Order: sequence, then C-alpha cells, then structure tokens
Amino acid sequence: MNSLSLPRSLSYDALIQAADERILILDGAMGTMIQTLNMTEEDFTANGHIHGPKCRHHSDHPQKGNNDLLVLTQPQTVEDLQLDFALAGADILETNTFSSTTIAQADYGLEDAVHDLNVAGAQVARRAADRATAQDGKPRWVAGAVGPTNRTASISPDVNDPGYRAVTFDDLRAAYGQQIDGLIAGGSDLILIETIFDTLNAKAAIFAAFESFAKVGRQLPIMISGTITDASGRTLSGQTPTAFWHSVRHARPFTVGLNCALGADAMRPHLAELAGVADTRICAYPNAGLPNAFGQYDETPEQTAKLVEVFAREGLINVAGGCCGTTPDHIRAIAEHVAPYAPRQIKETADV
Ligand SMILES: [Zn+2]
Repeated sequence: MNSLSLPRSLSYDALIQAADERILILDGAMGTMIQTLNMTEEDFTANGHIHGPKCRHHSDHPQKGNNDLLVLTQPQTVEDLQLDFALAGADILETNTFSSTTIAQADYGLEDAVHDLNVAGAQVARRAADRATAQDGKPRWVAGAVGPTNRTASISPDVNDPGYRAVTFDDLRAAYGQQIDGLIAGGSDLILIETIFDTLNAKAAIFAAFESFAKVGRQLPIMISGTITDASGRTLSGQTPTAFWHSVRHARPFTVGLNCALGADAMRPHLAELAGVADTRICAYPNAGLPNAFGQYDETPEQTAKLVEVFAREGLINVAGGCCGTTPDHIRAIAEHVAPYAPRQIKETADV
C-alpha cells in the first residue's frame, strides 16, 4: 500500500507554503500547564461521573493524572490553555492526546474511551485554533499528538528474559490506527508522532497513519520527533540521530526532529547531526532545561528562547516549540527570538 500517491489534504499545501516563508512555532507543554491547576479527582472525573453507572466511559480506576481525559471532562479548560499558546504565537497546536491509545489508557481502565478521547481532543484543539485565528487572522494547524505508549516493542522489560516483549508491532499498529482514525475524524491537520524512544514503536505508528490516510482518501503531513535519552546521544532503542532518520525516512515526513528529554543546550549537537543528514524540515521542541530535584523546570522563557535562537541562527530548524516545563510565556519568547531568522534550507536529493 502506498499512501504517498493519495491527494494531499487542503491544509497541507498551505502549511508547506508557510514553512517556506518562516520558522513555524509549535505550542508548549500541556502537562505542565495542567499541573499548575492542581486539579482533583473530582475535576478529572467531572464530579465522579466517570465512576458512575450512567457514564458510557465508566471506569472504577482513579483518574487523577489522566490528563488526556480532560478533553472529555474539562474541555473548556483544555481549550483555554491551548488558546493561550496560540495567542502567544503558536502556529501549530498539539492535541491533548499523548496517551490516548488503548495501550496507555489500560492503566486507567478507559480503553473503551479511546475513540472519543481522540475525536474530542482534536475538536477541542480545533476550537482553540479557530478562536485564535478569529482574533488575529493568522492561520493555525492542529497536530494530532501520538505518544510512544508506555511499552516498547524493541526492548525486553525483563532483564532475565531478553527475548520477551511487552507489546508487538501489530498490537501497536492496531492501537495507533484507532487513535489516528479518531484524530483525523476530529479535524486534525497533521499527525505528530512524538517523544519516540523506540523506533519500532514509531514505525508502527507510521504504518498505522498510512492505513488511516488510505481510509479517508487523503494524505496528512506527518511530523516525527525522537527523544535522546542518554548523554551519548542515542534513543532508548540505541540509535544515533542519523540512524533514526534513515529508519523513518520512508515516511517522507513534513518534519523530523527532537523533543523532550534534554534541554535546548544539550539537544543542539544531536539536532545539528539530524539537520546534516535529513532531506526534510527539522523541528525542535526541547524542555525548559533539565528538571530540578522536585521534577520542576527552572529555565525562564528568556533563557530557553535564547538557546532556541541559536538553532535558528545556525540554520538548523524549520519548526520550534517547547516540551516539558514550557509555558505560553516560553512560546512567546521563542517566537520572538526566532522571528528574524530564515527557516533552514532543505537539501535537495535526487530521489525525494
Ligand atoms: Zn517533554
């Protein structure tokens, strides 16, 4: 099956045109913003509705910390946070669906809610995007966020049984397919496969995305973002940025890049390596530095923005944003700092 021959979605061409003109801005961290609201179990469950017999998404599990559920139980709160990011300068808004797969939602007993979580997640972000556009006239795109799940297909979680796998490629492909179908049904313009620590998981997500595109008869842009998990500059499944690129290049993504894990300073050499080999756009959205002893991020908006500006000055990026610890103020500062710089030029290669 080759979805690359499908017609592109309408918003795809507008996105490419905007990316040719300037460095695009991705939003910041929903998880960090949700934490600042100190929501209770009652907030997460809409006053216990999720635990009640009448709820079509009934679960007996505690839901506090299930951030993705808020698109169903506190949609206005999520929409308002996303609007803040959009008005701070984000061109691309991520859906609040990082863990909206049956695999990740099993921890909360909400596997049956996955379709609705993804549809609602995309609809909520779409409303925030449209409200921002109504205010300032600038176009916005909704990126359906697909996380890595909490299981890895490449590595055994059992040190005594290296051949064991907690999840298979086909399990992941089915779970991601269900998620991506919902994200598209809810109105996502892009699919963002992010925080990739295991390339095999990402390949299952890419495969699933192409299957979903074939079902709706149009191709959405894909953004692919890996995460470097150790000081030697490798992903958890052991790849360098160059190897990672060659593993996902067949998807012909709109962007490839790095997010999370390291702050911008430590991310720079790995981003430079990726920018040296990838014949597509580069996207970077680092954390606001490294977490302190309490798991909080101390980098100020100005500090993070100055580090991301280095990426722009060195011609490394086409899209910039923030991951853990980044607030609307961080995104505003990043947008201001990269605005004077042209987007990275993509190297032409014969077969793309
Ligand atoms: Zn992060």
